[in-house]
Amino acid sequence: MASKISVNGLVKSFGHLEVLKGMNVEIAEGEVVCLIGPSGSGKSTFLRCLNRLEKISGGTVIVDGFDITDKQTDINKVRENIGMVFQHFNLFPNLTVIENIMLAPIELKKSNKEQAKKKAFELLKRVGLEDKADVYPTKLSGGQKQRVAIARALAMNPDIMLFDEPTSALDPEMVGEVLEVMKQLAADGMTMVVVTHEMGFAREVSNRVIFMDGGYIVEEGKPEEIFNNPQNSRTIDFLNKVL
Ligand code: ADP
Ligand code: MG
Repeated sequence: MASKISVNGLVKSFGHLEVLKGMNVEIAEGEVVCLIGPSGSGKSTFLRCLNRLEKISGGTVIVDGFDITDKQTDINKVRENIGMVFQHFNLFPNLTVIENIMLAPIELKKSNKEQAKKKAFELLKRVGLEDKADVYPTKLSGGQKQRVAIARALAMNPDIMLFDEPTSALDPEMVGEVLEVMKQLAADGMTMVVVTHEMGFAREVSNRVIFMDGGYIVEEGKPEEIFNNPQNSRTIDFLNKVL
């Protein structure tokens, strides 16, 4: 099967600091890949290169068949198919929950107001927050905000979802509700790349775990391989600290 995301020799530098040192990754349609590794290893930078939120310094990144490192590629078109969810929810505080979700489809003329509203309600139902449509984000708990952020990302009908530590800013009792929504999304066949410290989620939901350190992929494999039988001493060290 053709790769949904194909990364070849990806290099990313900030000035003289080389943060990604030649990464190669193929991600298939419907695959759920968890990216783990110590702080500063380049996980967020890698994720941000996948929709060119960071300028790519070298190598190629092909998403949905489009080479996003090619200047001819209309990056905004590609981005419409990639949803992204961050640690801090980044909801628009001056818009209600439903307005947050309707915004992009209307602004980008993907749908009219009526369609956008219908879709937004469906999504709110999917994340269990139908009753919060008309409240402002400040009235929501962290877990609810993150579920709205996921619904908002889904409003554009993306076929890839990128998550950067979506539960790291949450109180422990709210982590489960967000992971549950992500788990459902995975079961529905979404292609997902998830940076996470939730080893339980990685073990249970992902098809593959990639361990990064120092701008490299040190080791990757099925979750049971990485968690039960890691090969590299750096992977072993890291897992000893977090498990
Ligand atoms: P992780 O997400 O694994 O914690 P990051 O991708 O955020 O790691 O960061 C990797 C390295 O890149 C770190 O050394 C960080 O300081 C550096 N870095 C990230 N973003 C920038 C930036 N905008 N400018 C300069 N250095 C950056
Ligand atoms: Mg990060």
